[in-house]
Amino acid sequence: MKVLVINCGSSSLKYQLIDSDTEKVLAKGLCERIGIDGRLVYQKAGLDKEKYDYAMPTHKEAIGYVLKALTNDKTGAISDLKEIDAIGHRVVHGGEKFSKSTIITDDVIKTIEEVSELAPLHNPANLIGINVCKELMPGVPNVAVFDTAFHQTMPPKAYLYGLPYDYYKKYGVRRYGFHGTSHSFVSKETAKFLGLDINNSKIIVCHLGNGASISAVENGKCVDTSMGMTPLDGLVMGTRSGAIDPAIIEFIAHKENLTLDEVTEILNKKSGVFGLSNGLSSDFRDLDDAATHGNELAKEALEVFSYRVLKTVGGYVAVMNGVDAIAFTAGIGENDPGVRAEVIKNLGYLGIELDEEANKVRGESALISTPDSKVKVCVIPTNEELAICRDTVALLK
Ligand code: ADP
Repeated sequence: MKVLVINCGSSSLKYQLIDSDTEKVLAKGLCERIGIDGRLVYQKAGLDKEKYDYAMPTHKEAIGYVLKALTNDKTGAISDLKEIDAIGHRVVHGGEKFSKSTIITDDVIKTIEEVSELAPLHNPANLIGINVCKELMPGVPNVAVFDTAFHQTMPPKAYLYGLPYDYYKKYGVRRYGFHGTSHSFVSKETAKFLGLDINNSKIIVCHLGNGASISAVENGKCVDTSMGMTPLDGLVMGTRSGAIDPAIIEFIAHKENLTLDEVTEILNKKSGVFGLSNGLSSDFRDLDDAATHGNELAKEALEVFSYRVLKTVGGYVAVMNGVDAIAFTAGIGENDPGVRAEVIKNLGYLGIELDEEANKVRGESALISTPDSKVKVCVIPTNEELAICRDTVALLK
């Protein structure tokens, strides 16, 4: 089957066309600046990137240009749109309504709309992508793959906040967790890579990208995760604060004369390692470089980041009463040996020993603990698009 995977943001859209039989990417790219001016990036497998400035007042034009690029005479990956067998959509929030991926029907669209108030920045954009695909490719099945679904197996003790119970009942205020597609994919790949039986395993997945989260996966099911009702909870991230004392919000609002919305914006966009490094960068390549050249704030920002990762991993070892494997994934997890070493060095009490030579790896699956380390540590690249493609095919077979 040929599956078009769509990840629609508010002003951007990422896409991949995947052949599910070979799991090869046939073409991929993105649309940027939708609603502003518009730019299409298209790349057929094995060829250079092509970039075009096209007017994209809405997602409809953007997806229209993607479909044109996919079928263009010279570098198109397919000759006819009819070759697209299915479309898999990333949907950020499924609330408590979706515990797995689902074929999109009118009822499903209605339910995604209902949970949109939990992700007002993301779900409406995801829905636009779904509706435009239905319109431009009538008859092609659409599947929704939710960022929250994998975490729906968490028990109440993990997902309830210490708040009046009514807020949970009335408004759905609870921990949902995100990056679920990645946590699910990487936990399975980790078990495969290490030859573990996923149904009898304890795996901690550290998804460390610009957004970062950790999950505890016991026997293939998520039992806890660090992101919360929104992706702002948990780890210190690129620009997000992660968990903070909630009283800080009012304190800062008073001191800086800001509204709640303004403080929330700061917690999302100006905090994390970006804020800690005094606005130097949210990118770990820049921070690593600055730290190596003696920038103390960059060094401290990196320490704060790794320390929070370490505390969370330690907490999840306790939650599962042990751990068989720890997997690092996403931009930082796959590419930053320094962060991995900083986290692992304090886990010696678990019998973990880092193989410093093996830890130099970037961007590919590798065991980075020594052969006799009691707990295995590895780097496992995530692939959310492939995971969406696999779920889409599984539902349609
Ligand atoms: P997201 O999908 O959340 O945007 P990614 O998983 O793509 O994030 O991760 C992006 C981040 O990965 C970058 O901001 C950067 O901090 C980090 N990163 C990428 N490459 C490297 C590298 N070679 N060394 C250190 N960090 C890296």
